[in-house]
Amino acid sequence: MTTTPEKTAEDLQASSGRPSAPLGTETFRKSRPDIAGPDIVEPPFPIFLSGAVQKGFGRGGKDLGCPTANLPDESIIPMSSVCKPGVYFGYAQVYGRSGQEGRVHPMVMSLGWNPFYKNERLTAEIHIMHDFQSDFYGHDMQAVILGYIRPELDYTSKEALIEDINTDKRVALRSLSRESYVKFGVDPNPGAADE
Ligand code: ADP
Ligand code: MG
Repeated sequence: MTTTPEKTAEDLQASSGRPSAPLGTETFRKSRPDIAGPDIVEPPFPIFLSGAVQKGFGRGGKDLGCPTANLPDESIIPMSSVCKPGVYFGYAQVYGRSGQEGRVHPMVMSLGWNPFYKNERLTAEIHIMHDFQSDFYGHDMQAVILGYIRPELDYTSKEALIEDINTDKRVALRSLSRESYVKFGVDPNPGAADE
């Protein structure tokens, strides 16, 4: 039996623009595993992304109780050239206005066209699992992506989407609690040489 190789987000964008996403069904929601990916971080992960936080359509936060900080288009290529669209997990940190390093927090990220909102452009949006006191548009953000959670799905209701996002957060936290993943939360770039 042959299988079709999976296309990266870049391939899909080049060939057809926004692909259609399968519907997130109740059966899918009820049968989701509670941990994602292998016990050891495996290639292509870790993938490092960074850029200044961009303004989006202002929907994630208001609508879903889940703000997502958008990375600049050009900064997502290291990921979109090797990963398929979907929901991923890892860590992110936001820098202060004057460039001081922020704390590292767990995050969930969506790479894709956001089918529920009919986006036309490929975006990478990060929801950081931390209560920030204020918005941080324009601030530098760094992220390390460590694993894949699920495909992008379309939804017939906002409630179903919210339920899946809440599951994504739980899966991300549980997946990040494994030894091979935890170290990226302490130092997001543990392979880098110390000065
Ligand atoms: P937009 O469409 O402009 O991205 P959102 O409603 O998705 O609007 O809100 C995203 C913005 O909310 C981020 O750019 C950031 O400034 C702010 N924000 C506050 N808390 C968080 C958080 N925990 N994770 C991500 N972004 C957050
Ligand atoms: Mg957003």
